[in-house]
Amino acid sequence: MVLYCPLYDVIVVGAGHAGCEAALAAARMGCRVLLTAIDLDKVAAMPCSPSIGGMAKGQLVKELDALGGEMAKITDRTAIQYRKLNTKKGPAVHSSRTQNDKMRYHMAMKAVIEAEPNIDLKQTMVESLAVEGDRIAGVEDHTGFGYRATTVVLATGTFLSGLVHIGNKSVQAGRAGEFAAYGLAEHLRQIGFGLGRMKTGTPPRLRKSSIDFSKFSAQETDENPTPFSFFTEHICLPQIPSYIGYTNRRAHAIVRDNLQRSALYGGIIKGISARYCPSFEDKIVKFPDKDRHQVILEPEGIDTEEIYASGLGNSLPLEVQIELVRSVEGLEAAEIMRPAYAIEYDYVNPIQLKPSLEAKKIKGLFLAGQINGTSGYEEAAAQGLWAGINAACQVQKRPPFVLDRSQAYMGVMIDDLVTRGTREPYRMFTSRAEYRLMLREDNADLRLMEIGHALDLIDRDTVRDLRARKMQIDQEIQRIKHTFIKPDKAVNAYLLSRGTQPLGDGTRLDQLLKRVELDYQTVEALAPSPDNIRPGVAKQVEIEIKYEGYIQKQLREIERFKNLERIKIPEDFDFFSVHGLSNELKEKLSAVRATSLGQATRIDGITPAAISVLMVALKAQAKRKMVNECDGTI
Ligand SMILES: Cc1cc2nc3c(=O)[nH]c(=O)nc-3n(C[C@H](O)[C@H](O)[C@H](O)COP(=O)(O)OP(=O)(O)OC[C@H]3O[C@@H](n4cnc5c(N)ncnc54)[C@H](O)[C@@H]3O)c2cc1C
Repeated sequence: MVLYCPLYDVIVVGAGHAGCEAALAAARMGCRVLLTAIDLDKVAAMPCSPSIGGMAKGQLVKELDALGGEMAKITDRTAIQYRKLNTKKGPAVHSSRTQNDKMRYHMAMKAVIEAEPNIDLKQTMVESLAVEGDRIAGVEDHTGFGYRATTVVLATGTFLSGLVHIGNKSVQAGRAGEFAAYGLAEHLRQIGFGLGRMKTGTPPRLRKSSIDFSKFSAQETDENPTPFSFFTEHICLPQIPSYIGYTNRRAHAIVRDNLQRSALYGGIIKGISARYCPSFEDKIVKFPDKDRHQVILEPEGIDTEEIYASGLGNSLPLEVQIELVRSVEGLEAAEIMRPAYAIEYDYVNPIQLKPSLEAKKIKGLFLAGQINGTSGYEEAAAQGLWAGINAACQVQKRPPFVLDRSQAYMGVMIDDLVTRGTREPYRMFTSRAEYRLMLREDNADLRLMEIGHALDLIDRDTVRDLRARKMQIDQEIQRIKHTFIKPDKAVNAYLLSRGTQPLGDGTRLDQLLKRVELDYQTVEALAPSPDNIRPGVAKQVEIEIKYEGYIQKQLREIERFKNLERIKIPEDFDFFSVHGLSNELKEKLSAVRATSLGQATRIDGITPAAISVLMVALKAQAKRKMVNECDGTI
């Protein structure tokens, strides 16, 4: 393989949500980057729902933003609807979600990429990797042209051996209308990667003017929408509602009568699909008694007729899709502009990766996004940033970038992937994050911006402002905790007017703020702060005081977690030499190559007894090493 081009620091294969973040992170850290895609008109394409965020996904996007990623900024520039989810519940599960103009999203991200001087963006299909010894050296494309690089990030999404299905018709494609990457998939197999097969799908797109919206109920944007990005000052696009409707028994019968003609239930699809993202056929089969299922009509953009019919994803033949869609009230005359389809594709089980997302078998090769078995724009983008940062760290001889489970949802996701691997599409949920009370959307900047700054991805002014806010939060919490309120007439009249109990005895302001019915503004009015407290600061003060007990408890749990994370396992530790471990556990530990005792505790099948045995073996090895160092044998 002849590698022609000058040496790049980082080559990113794929300009989807993962690839764009990887390329931008590495470029902004000062690396020379080549970003490739099969079709430049599909940079940062949204092949499925025209939305960003949602449960736990909103947290990922905020974390990306706090670390200097791009998704949240592009989201705000292209959002046509904002909704905050779960606001009736505690702040740990508050998540943002937007509807976005897909075409504007693609164009905005492509423009940012093109404006980045350190990135060369090229349309090509990578067919194979150049590997010298156990180290990556570059890539070769379908024309036989080779590009040389110190590191490579593979972010190829659903394209590896992509196969699109509509009924019993199948087409090789990475997405409807785009070439698939069969050459690269075969090459990855040949060089020893274990590949699995997954499936996802998308609903039909309907023509807006053929829909009777009077039969649907509108779902409007939030009254005071909150931008996704910490850097967005105001929202720029007109807001458009979505519309909610329901299927009916007739629709269900149509599917039941044609089940064998669906690619999924006709046995054509082999890939594993996501339990949490069922196709319409799945819903009919799994919930036979339900007499209706929700359909949400989501606008795909401002200047398009296309409507995304969420809830009607299927892989039925087109004529059945038409019958199904037209059986829904309000869609009797609906025109399908793009049919629903299912796609199956190869993925690389992420157990083959290190916590930096570097491949264990090839140095300098990183994998990010759907190729690792996840599903979702947000999960992909978070991995892309992570891999891009780590590729740049390797080029610049910096220590690897890894966040642990107590620092970020990203840390939870990556640890889950590389420690347990995945056999079905992995989607982020708040339930996956055991320390979710600390990993909220509202404090992503406080948790991560300093780290982004240390990586040269967040600028000095932003961090200066962050430090000032942190200081103000601490000072205001202290002030509130040390401000005493006497139960005088005016105070009690005020409290009664705010629908809460009057005071019998004097109390501290923080005790008042712990009352569920009172918020920071109401309590602060009793003893106003001498400083101008900004809304973001007020929110942090309120949460820190209201959830103080839970937060303290979680901080103790995190300390215990960190104690186990601090017990490192040497890279060359021989798990097979540990007496008292079963062969199965020895194999699992060697496959994962846990880097700490903490990570070892999370490997499937590991028992507390096995951890004790391992701890003893690690201590014994450390002692032997010390003795040897003392008597100079090493
Ligand atoms: C039909 C469909 C339905 C989906 N449904 C859902 C859903 O319901 N819920 C959900 O959360 N997610 C869904 N997704 C997944 C979602 O689209 C992805 O999670 C997300 O786009 C993954 O981002 P990525 O960056 O990993 O890859 P992608 O966005 O797929 O981008 C891959 C990029 O790699 C490039 N590429 C691939 N191979 C090569 C090569 N050999 N050489 C050069 N460039 C290459 C492509 O051109 C593209 O730019 C769906 C995807 C599809 C296709």
